[in-house]
Amino acid sequence: MKQNQNSLELLLQNACGKDLDGCTVPELYGGLLSLTQSMAESRREEKGKKKLYYISAEFLIGKLLSNNLINLGIYGDVKAILARHGKSLAAVEEYEPEPSLGNGGLGRLAACFLDSIATLGLNGDGIGLNYHMGLFRQVFQDNKQKEEPNPWIQTPSWLKKTDVTYRIPYRNFTLTSRMYDIQVTGYHSRTNTLHLFDLETVDEGLLGDGISFDKGDIEKNLTLFLYPDDSDRAGQILRVYQQYFMVSSAARLILDEAQAKGSNLHDLADYAVIQINDTHPTMVIPELIRLLTAEHGMEMDEAISVVTNCCAYTNHTILAEALEKWPMDYLKEAVPQLIPIIEVLDDKVRRRFDDPSLYIIDREERVHMAHIDIHYGFSVNGVAALHTGILKETELHNFYSVYPEKFNNKTNGITFRRWLLHSNPELAAWIEDRIGDGFQTDAGELKRLNDPKFLEDSALLKSLLAVKQTKKEQLAAYLKETQGLDIDPNSIFDIQVKRLHEYKRQQMNALYLIHKYLEIKAGNRPSTPITAIFGAKAAPAYVIAKDIIHMILCLKQLTEHDPEVRPWLRVVMTENYNVTLAEKLTPACDLSEQISLASKEASGTGNMKFMLNGAVTLGTEDGANVEIHQLVGDGNIYIFGDPSQTVIDRYRDGSYRPREYYDRDPAIRRAVDFITGPEMMAVGCAENLSRLSAELLNKDWFMTFPDFQAYVAAKEQAFKDYEDRAAWARKMLVNISQAGYFSSDRTIAEYNRDIWNLD
Ligand SMILES: *Cc1c(COP(=O)(O)O)cnc(C)c1O
Repeated sequence: MKQNQNSLELLLQNACGKDLDGCTVPELYGGLLSLTQSMAESRREEKGKKKLYYISAEFLIGKLLSNNLINLGIYGDVKAILARHGKSLAAVEEYEPEPSLGNGGLGRLAACFLDSIATLGLNGDGIGLNYHMGLFRQVFQDNKQKEEPNPWIQTPSWLKKTDVTYRIPYRNFTLTSRMYDIQVTGYHSRTNTLHLFDLETVDEGLLGDGISFDKGDIEKNLTLFLYPDDSDRAGQILRVYQQYFMVSSAARLILDEAQAKGSNLHDLADYAVIQINDTHPTMVIPELIRLLTAEHGMEMDEAISVVTNCCAYTNHTILAEALEKWPMDYLKEAVPQLIPIIEVLDDKVRRRFDDPSLYIIDREERVHMAHIDIHYGFSVNGVAALHTGILKETELHNFYSVYPEKFNNKTNGITFRRWLLHSNPELAAWIEDRIGDGFQTDAGELKRLNDPKFLEDSALLKSLLAVKQTKKEQLAAYLKETQGLDIDPNSIFDIQVKRLHEYKRQQMNALYLIHKYLEIKAGNRPSTPITAIFGAKAAPAYVIAKDIIHMILCLKQLTEHDPEVRPWLRVVMTENYNVTLAEKLTPACDLSEQISLASKEASGTGNMKFMLNGAVTLGTEDGANVEIHQLVGDGNIYIFGDPSQTVIDRYRDGSYRPREYYDRDPAIRRAVDFITGPEMMAVGCAENLSRLSAELLNKDWFMTFPDFQAYVAAKEQAFKDYEDRAAWARKMLVNISQAGYFSSDRTIAEYNRDIWNLD
């Protein structure tokens, strides 16, 4: 060990270019970055003929330094070396910028998958885009979300410019894409690559106020932002330009690499398997067919069958508005070369099937991207058991009837390197003291914690609670330092962090908090004070989502300034929720809010992170919550609300009238009226609060009222149970012990076994 540290110290000194004592934090970061990169590079190896290409519009990778140090097995040594020189690794971690290449769960899943693919020693790379300004940086002003650009690319950077460039043809012009690479280290394993394509003519000077820019100037704006505002036609067409840029670059890379390894392209499926992460990369299918026919002289029918044998599609949602349908007009304007291919693909479908719901081009001349994936891919997977069931039985039932063999489930997972070893080393050490370190490579070993000798040991349960308390104190200190928030680590941390969306029902949580506020005012105080923590970004053009943020921030202001309530109930919202914050919030959570409307959350992965870190879930029977429930049993989770079938039926028969609940239920009425009552109006904005209240009363599309009473009851029960500390610690331990199933190593092993078949 000492020997290792000495040689490592020398390497680090060389990388920094000077003695460590004299290094600033940025110099240490630069040195560690280059040392890590050279160590990672030495772990590359060619392996097998076939390679996986995981194409995704998002890779929410988070900061990379610590994760890479852990995966290279030198985290502890580096920390000790720095400490000997009076330096703190934590300060270097804090200095590193977080790449802003994703939005939420879908992008984070892609990042966890890359980690597990490398860790399992599989030959697989990611392909995406290098957005200069990322999603956006969220700031709060006057209790509202404001968006700012998030320029995350600095020097030095994990991004390495390569010599690979491609010419990408559009209707009126041709652009040049250039490939940038980020290394993906596996845990004590090989190094793979995340390829991010970029456009060199992007001009950051195009930025106007906030995140506005000229959407028409494609040569200057193509990779400025992930998800540019698409509330108008120009914004939508820009997304088509972006998607094509990504997949045309990907298609050329895939063909080049296959040919370099000896493929004659007729046998492409022996060299490449392409996982299409949601519909954003769908155009890779017609683009590959176009390249094979136009540039490599393949017959159309053969090209279609070659490509079909290479492509697999992951569905992430049943929300109608999220299933992409591009008007033919847009495609004609941006990428007319794909039109004849898409027409052939549609024509073949029409010859085989009478059912218009299976067509690719609908009556309104819109191209259904998911339909291309299902007809012209060999695998369709959902991301949790319930979700895949709904796809088969309801949402994609007509497709399932004709292609039953294509459908399969791959329940999502998370990488335990980032979400346990890195984010919660105290808990990892606690576990290792009990069952050894085998769980680090075989997550199933966590089950050994589910043993009466641990569950009935009160001293041991106390020590588990002490770990949680430490993480709560660390979070409180971090939020104080970085966001000026003041929270009490002796209160219950009740956390809901995820994208802001009505289906996730942050508004229902807020209604509960109003309810609780009024109860406290009436003298009904909780036994232990409660801190409700939110973190969420709303899409810039999603009006109601921004109104919900406004409501939460107004509630925060109200509770903060009310001396009767503040000691018992605090509401906080962290600004700019991202991976870095998630890493601090997850280990500190007592109660994990997973309260989506049943049937709407395809899987969720936040739920898994919280479970692994010893939080107890308060959730609906939705997404992977269903599987968590099965694994931990009724006594170790709080499940409430109408089941997915009831919800699906209620949508189908159109019978839901929120006003009936409002009229019938005084608690709902009291909470909803409060939104536009004098207290809220005094701190908030009438336009936003009235719009939100009207939305709930007249529409409530995601059915918060039918579940409200059950939600209140389940939450009160959880707060009551929290008082018996030993019993609560037992619930925590059962959750941790059953979390092994949600390792992305398990998920990726299944993808490989059933879909990819890599050596
Ligand atoms: C895990 C994660 C998500 C996904 O959370 P869900 O609760 O599954 O929606 C979103 N954002 C960040 C930053 C995450 O780490």
